[in-house]
Amino acid sequence: MADSAPPNERLTLPTPERVLVMLAHPDDAEFGAGGTIARLAANGSHVVVVVVTDGSQGTDDPDATGDALFNRRQAEQHNAAEILGIAEVHFLGFPDGRIYNNETLREALVRQIRRHRPDLLITHDPTTRIWDEIGMINHPDHRAVGDTTLDAVYPLARDRLSFPQHEAEGLAPHKVLELFLTGSNQPNFAVDISETLEAKIDSIVAHVSQIAEPEQLRTMMTERAKETGERWGMDAAEQFRRLTLWR
Ligand SMILES: [Zn+2]
Repeated sequence: MADSAPPNERLTLPTPERVLVMLAHPDDAEFGAGGTIARLAANGSHVVVVVVTDGSQGTDDPDATGDALFNRRQAEQHNAAEILGIAEVHFLGFPDGRIYNNETLREALVRQIRRHRPDLLITHDPTTRIWDEIGMINHPDHRAVGDTTLDAVYPLARDRLSFPQHEAEGLAPHKVLELFLTGSNQPNFAVDISETLEAKIDSIVAHVSQIAEPEQLRTMMTERAKETGERWGMDAAEQFRRLTLWR
């Protein structure tokens, strides 16, 4: 990693035409990649966010119902998307906390890939059981969505005979070119988010139902982005495990 930090070609942000961000919960995109998404969108990429779950478990409020929370979280996600320049947000509505890599989820995620045809796809690193950087158990939905998304990228979305009913609906097979995995214990790529850190934090704070102490969160996210940046010779950064496929 960069000691004297000459401009590092390896750390240049790509300029994909289409980006698909496929993550488990409302706010995962903002926490994991908000600064990067803002940069990609500003550079002209068409960014689509797919939220796999309904986010209906994300509350301590004894009076909250799952349906009301899902509605609220969709509205918050749209506000966050606007701040980052995200073009489209879709909710698949799978039950929060009960996500499994099964045929139903595979079909749904392959459908999203074939529909949005991303060059770059951002998802969770499914190999993270314990998240070393922040000393937390990784949420099982993150692992399941990351795992199923990788199966969807390869080989399922690519092979026309997997879910052949898609072709009749006009959804052709698709090859993703590149992956950025969030929450990875093996980051090999970083994005300088000095210019987009404020937007990232604003987009997280837009998830009002999830953020009890916005000012505390601002401080914490700023510190974390700076710590990550120090590792890569940047003022503030987000890091990923980056995988380039089928060039
Ligand atoms: Zn999450």
